[in-house]
Amino acid sequence: MTSARGITYADPEQDDRHRDIDGVLWVVCAGSATGGTEYAKELHPDRQCTAMDLLLCAGCKLPAARNKRGMTWILPLLDDATDTVWEGVQTAIPPVCEVCADLAPQACPVLRDGHVELRVREAEVIGVRGTLYPRPGQNHSPDPDALVLYDSPDLPFVVARQLIRELRDVTVVHRTPGPHPIDPRRGDRHPTHAPPVTGRAPRRVTDSPAATKDSRSATGRA
Ligand SMILES: [Zn+2]
Repeated sequence: MTSARGITYADPEQDDRHRDIDGVLWVVCAGSATGGTEYAKELHPDRQCTAMDLLLCAGCKLPAARNKRGMTWILPLLDDATDTVWEGVQTAIPPVCEVCADLAPQACPVLRDGHVELRVREAEVIGVRGTLYPRPGQNHSPDPDALVLYDSPDLPFVVARQLIRELRDVTVVHRTPGPHPIDPRRGDRHPTHAPPVTGRAPRRVTDSPAATKDSRSATGRA
């Protein structure tokens, strides 16, 4: 149900169960939150949110790898540009552990198309991706793939399915081009990776970082 205050589930108990501490409403979904190492695909919302929130490996749910340069993230290349700026990239993909960092590029077809391994010192939760519903009186259709930041007035009108982090203080460990670099316009092929939010290189939604809960508070959301 949509009112001027935002969107709610008709059942108050269901609404309560699916609203997070920031007041964001999350999608109700069936199915299992398990899966293999194809971690760059769009994950089950429960699994994505847990891994992203707690900075667990998207492949195995163990703590993500980290060293003095930060936490490990492996992201698909968004295009065939060689000068992509990864600083400030916004992503729905959680970080990765050491074991999965070795396995994922072979196991995940999205990464086989080309990927970059990053070390990330700061990964602030900045918002969610989900379905943005029109306000009362607006006649347009819902946007099924909207990025809504936490300071946006749209936040009460979104039903979230992914947590988004912005990666900063990024070190590129290596970049592995694939045989067929990903065309960011083919969003249907890689639904996890939305097209650039603003069209500028640092504003791409791709995946997301790792740290512990400390780093989450250190990065500003707590
Ligand atoms: Zn793992």
